[in-house]
Amino acid sequence: MKCNADAIIFQKYSGMHLCRKHFIEDVERKVKLTIRKHFNIGKNETLAVALSGGKDSCVVLYVLHKIFHERRDLNIVAISVDEGIKGYREHSLEYAKELASTLGIKHIIRSFEDEYGTTLDGLTAKNRVLGACSYCGVLRKSILNKVALEIGANRLITGHNLDDEAQTILMNHLSGDVDRMVRLDPPREIEGMVLRAKPLRKIPEKEVALYALVNDIPVDLEVCPYAHEALRGEVRDMLNGFESRHPGTKYSLLRGFDKMVKLLAADFPPATISKCRVCGQACNAEVCQACRLLEKI
Ligand code: SF4
Repeated sequence: MKCNADAIIFQKYSGMHLCRKHFIEDVERKVKLTIRKHFNIGKNETLAVALSGGKDSCVVLYVLHKIFHERRDLNIVAISVDEGIKGYREHSLEYAKELASTLGIKHIIRSFEDEYGTTLDGLTAKNRVLGACSYCGVLRKSILNKVALEIGANRLITGHNLDDEAQTILMNHLSGDVDRMVRLDPPREIEGMVLRAKPLRKIPEKEVALYALVNDIPVDLEVCPYAHEALRGEVRDMLNGFESRHPGTKYSLLRGFDKMVKLLAADFPPATISKCRVCGQACNAEVCQACRLLEKI
């Protein structure tokens, strides 16, 4: 709809047919807008990018490098966490290494084994009360924050896309968890916690995949063997059904959330942050969630 080239995508939600060039421009425009609106990147900052080797994290690293590679004052560092998921994570880490090396970006890899003396496979083989993703998500976030602090990062950037954000918002609505919803808000400064940022939050998951494809970004398309345990599968199917019948639903959820969260924050102030007495990381209880989970196993 912008030139005479063949379209490679039809965005039902915007009514636009876009060719390769204009599709790439559209994605990058939305990323720049998100950065400007939700978090500014100041001078001499270090951006830590969580890089799993999957499409979302590879695309966010690639786009940030493309947008900021001429900013000599910015330092982009990729951080990967090897949870120890046999037959899966070792492959995705290869993609992560390849992309970081192609872009000339420093790449740090830490493992559950290094930090906790065990792997996710080892943890899930024990008598556990929660799904694998609950352990994985909490422990991985803790390592990412720790490494980001070590390198003096100003931001910890993740590849969460529009689908991830819309699913999380809906899941919090369904469980009535307003505190958690408020914590999703573009973050504020908390001592001991590196500010999070999600530049792809306005890019639908399918478009992240297409962006990787048309830019020849090496990404791992394998699915984690524990993915079926994730609760969000049901919510994802429901949202995809709505989106196909009512294009724009995911954007509406995100827009509504962005308006509402500022009002909610006044009634649900952030918890007091202290240091975990076991590991010393910032948390809102005597013992952080990661250490509590590890204690129970
Ligand atoms: Fe971890 Fe679950 Fe993601 Fe697998 S699907 S990497 S277990 S959070």
